[in-house]
Amino acid sequence: MEDMSAADRAEAWESVRRRLRAELGEDVFSSWFGRLELDAISGDVARLTVPTRFLKSWIEANYLDRVLTVFRGAFPGVGRLIIGVRSAGGAVISPRMPEPARRPAAAPAQAPAAPARPAPAQPQEPAAAAPAPAAAAGAEADIVGNSLDPRLTFENFVVGRSNALAHAAAERVASHDGGAPLYSPFYLHASVGLGKTHLLQAVSHAAEQRGRKVIYLTADRFMYSFVNALKSQTALAFKEKLRAIDMLVLDDVQFIQGKSIQQEFGHTVNALIDAGRQIVVAADRPPAELETLDERVRSRLAGGLVVEMGPLDEALRASILKARIAAMQAKHPAFAVSPEVIAYVASVITTNGRDLDGAVNRLLAHTTLSGGEITVETAENAIRDLVRTREPKRVKIEDIQKLVATRYNVSRADILSERRTAAVVKPRQIAMYLSKQLTLRSLPEIGRRFGGRDHTTVLHAVRKIDKAVAEDKALHEEVELLKRMLLD
Ligand code: ADP
Ligand code: MG
Repeated sequence: MEDMSAADRAEAWESVRRRLRAELGEDVFSSWFGRLELDAISGDVARLTVPTRFLKSWIEANYLDRVLTVFRGAFPGVGRLIIGVRSAGGAVISPRMPEPARRPAAAPAQAPAAPARPAPAQPQEPAAAAPAPAAAAGAEADIVGNSLDPRLTFENFVVGRSNALAHAAAERVASHDGGAPLYSPFYLHASVGLGKTHLLQAVSHAAEQRGRKVIYLTADRFMYSFVNALKSQTALAFKEKLRAIDMLVLDDVQFIQGKSIQQEFGHTVNALIDAGRQIVVAADRPPAELETLDERVRSRLAGGLVVEMGPLDEALRASILKARIAAMQAKHPAFAVSPEVIAYVASVITTNGRDLDGAVNRLLAHTTLSGGEITVETAENAIRDLVRTREPKRVKIEDIQKLVATRYNVSRADILSERRTAAVVKPRQIAMYLSKQLTLRSLPEIGRRFGGRDHTTVLHAVRKIDKAVAEDKALHEEVELLKRMLLD
């Protein structure tokens, strides 16, 4: 293998990619394999890399055999694949992601030196990629929970109308000890930035302080740990470890994917509930909508207490801002924000806690850089881009064409082509119509982007669909759906 020339290797790798694309379809390919790269081949082991840990877990859990089969077609000497995470630029994972588990025993031959002392800022892949069965017997099942952010406590959580119930339930869950849990699972859902992670971590902190054994895991980490355990044949020990804790806290379970992992997730949830353990779960949707999990798991998750947190209302946003600013003043005594400015920011940043955090950081930066007082006007400047990103998203004509093509089962090339069969004309006109509606492009420009058509053709399409949408309810809904997909 190693004696292949670089050009041959590149060519063979290209053929692997082509083959995967053909077998899996464009959607699957571009979602999961578009950023898969061949890094090195050494002996019969090939190392492929992806930019995120999540992609790694996902490919390992779902596609490893498939990729290996295809890979061997082009690289016959390869018997094993290792998926690594590229560190350059791409390895910025969650800032709360701790160092990977220590794995003393099973370091592969080509592992970076001294894996036992990982540099704190560089989440590097542990030896997990090597399924070295010889070392497995003595290997520990490593479930290292994500480390908790010390700021995400109950003390720092501001209670308002939209989260009062969730907060009260979380406090009860955290302070309950002895006897069967009151509600297990406790399932919290809300859209992004509304405080799920904050509450989950607050529960974890508080329960830990009461001496309970708690593991907080993101779905990502759950999958990752479990895939590792499977590989090092320590899955049993992994499960045992999970069952030995008092409380399992799982964040973002909507990301749990992959057949074996979701099964395992189901078993874990069942086993823990049956053993009278507390499970706390957060997701961006209610249990019934967790499509990647099977029906039984969903209903099990729905069987405890399910609480939704709503959007932050303006009063709550202002309180959160105030609390944040107060916390910052401990470190930056000169940082002062008047009530007017807080009220202003609370009124324009309507989205979620993350953007509020962003706004406070901008205000602080402004104070530090200019030293001047923050007025509503300077605040407006400082947070302008945060507000601006909330304006309708810029949609690209190319994306419209791609989406419409997929939706109508034609290719993008068909849409740009001269073909005039009804199967192509309708999606083409819809795509033109959406381009006019969702972008600022002129009719001639849209015409050019649709295979060099005249602007009158575009105008005709726009008028035609406009009229059709007004008359045909189904089409209206269809177009609305496409719009939403493009704007989301
Ligand atoms: P989610 O997990 O739901 O996406 P997070 O818990 O990460 O949201 O919240 C996003 C940010 O907003 C965090 O910095 C969090 O501390 C803050 N935040 C959200 N809700 C509150 C609240 N009620 N009180 C204080 N901070 C909050
Ligand atoms: Mg979160």
